[in-house]
This record gives sequence, C-alpha cells and structure tokens, in this order.
Amino acid sequence: MKNKKLLSVTTLFLSLFLVLSSVALAEEKLDEAIGEEKVGFTGPYPDEVVSPEEPNTPSNPGQTDKNKGELRIDYVPYFFFDKANITKDGSYTLNAHAQYYTKGESPTGNFVQIVDERKANGWSLTLKQEDEFTLVGSSAVDPKEQLVYITPTGEKYHAYKCGNGTYMQTTLSDALSGGYEPCEKCYPNGVNPSEPYRLKGATLSLSHLWASSVHLGVGTTTTPTIHNDVIKMDSGKVYEIANAKGEVGKGRWAIVAGYSDEYAQKIGATSGTIKPMFDSANNPKLLKDSIQNIHSYGFDIEKQQVHTNEAVKLNVPAQDIRAGVYQAKFTWTLTAAP
Ligand SMILES: [Zn+2]
Repeated sequence: MKNKKLLSVTTLFLSLFLVLSSVALAEEKLDEAIGEEKVGFTGPYPDEVVSPEEPNTPSNPGQTDKNKGELRIDYVPYFFFDKANITKDGSYTLNAHAQYYTKGESPTGNFVQIVDERKANGWSLTLKQEDEFTLVGSSAVDPKEQLVYITPTGEKYHAYKCGNGTYMQTTLSDALSGGYEPCEKCYPNGVNPSEPYRLKGATLSLSHLWASSVHLGVGTTTTPTIHNDVIKMDSGKVYEIANAKGEVGKGRWAIVAGYSDEYAQKIGATSGTIKPMFDSANNPKLLKDSIQNIHSYGFDIEKQQVHTNEAVKLNVPAQDIRAGVYQAKFTWTLTAAP
C-alpha cells in the first residue's frame, strides 16, 4: 500500500515541472502630506478593482495585498506559469496565465491598479524581482525534512526511484545521519538537496504595456508615461514601469501588460496577447487541471479555461532542473514624485 503512494509521487516528480511565480507585494512609499484639499478632481475612489478592459464595471480578480491612503495600490497581480515537462537542456520560455475574474469575465492582461487622489504631484511605479525562483513545498520549508528514497543495500539516497530495486522513503536528515550520500543521477552537477534549490537566472519580461482609466479613458493627454519597450528584468534590480508628473496620473489607473483580441481591435493592433489553451484532444484546457492544487483563487475555477498572456514571459536559461513548484517574490512600489 505504501508503494502505491510512492509511485504516484514518483510519477509527479519524473514527469512534471511546475512553475509558480510571484507573491507580488504592494509597498507604498508615501512622503506627501495626506488630506490636502483636492483640486480639479472628483475622488475619493472606492478601493474596488475593475477589469482594465471594462473599467466601468467592478470586477473581482481575487485577493492580493493592497494599501490605504490617497496614493495607493489597490491590486497587484500574481503571475502563474503552467506545468511544463522538463526539457533536455532545461531552458524555457513560458507565458504567464492571463488575469482571470470571479464571475467568468473575459481574461485580460495582468495588471496593477493604483489610485492617486491627492492634489497633483505625480508618482512612479516600479517593479522588482526580490530573489531567484526557489523550489517551494515541504522540501523548501526545511530541506532536511524532505522525503528521499533509500534501498536496503545501497549507499546512496535518491530524489526518485531512479533504478530497479526496493526503494523506501525516509527523511533526508535520517538518510544523512545513516551515512547515505546523494545519488549522482538524481542530483547531477553537485546539486545539494540540503540547500534551497533555485532556478538560476530565471527572470520575467513584460511587454505590450498600456494604461487604462475608468476616469479619463485611454489616450488622453493626462495618461501616465508607460514604459513602451520590452522590460527584461534581472533579479534584484528595480524597473520603472510607469510614471506621472503634475496633473498627469491622477485618478484610478490600471497599468496592464497585454490585451485581448477584442481590445486589440479597438486600438488597431493586429492581434491580442491573450490566448485560450487547448489540450491534445483539442478540448479547452481547464484551470482546475492545471494549477489549482497550489493556489487558492478564492473563486470557482471549475470551468475556467486556461488562457496565457504572451506579454508576460518567464525566461529560464539552460540548466539542470529539479521537478517541483518554484516561486519568487515581486515587489511593486508606488512612490510619490519628489
Ligand atoms: Zn538516484
């Protein structure tokens, strides 16, 4: 009976490589006096979130961290990347999942929503990848407590049943104190399973950035300045995504990466970046079969089809990869202009 359980774990380890990105935390640095008289502006805005493509209708994209105050972040995105099979050289370019909504609205680009209700002063919005993508789950909490495999006669411990024989599960800590050493096949190139395992150099890129406002519409002279090249991020560096000066940027804004085909038509672009996904039998690929085990959306994903967003990519350079779920933290910072 125990073996059956082990088999299913082994299958998972061998066949799947799952990437989860982004606990994006909002952090506000507000050094302006709050509560000044509002000039030429009709706040306050409720801190509800709207879809950037339907900015007059409140939508619920799920919960994230938010700030309070007159200059604040109402919503930051989680970026999720789908399961992928481990490739031979371990390099990938993966598109993030699009932004979903609780009531089944059409998926959109991934966005951050901000509000500026102050007297005009301007702001800057930046994004930073705080650390490298790290293997998470039971093994990441305390690597020594992760389960490994040993055999009655062998001298090595294994990440999975890498050969024939009778494998038994034990903790890494017990395997180490029993004098077992890492199997070179399971832990190639000096991978030390006692250390948190990282995807080296895995970074995000953002493109097709635009700004949406319920208040002013798109393309007015008061639209914030949006970074319009592809932003290729490096871990640990701060990137400015958008900024606003003076009267510009007041109100409620979504800064968005990517858009649907419908929105592409509106702005005269050839096609959108949001793509519905299908399985090998050409049936809609469902979110519940994709990543539901590692994230609670806070709403019913039973029938939600997976949509990817080509405007948010994860680039993983070639390397040896351990199967599992990886996660990195991204910090959005909204700073009042000096
Ligand atoms: Zn092995």
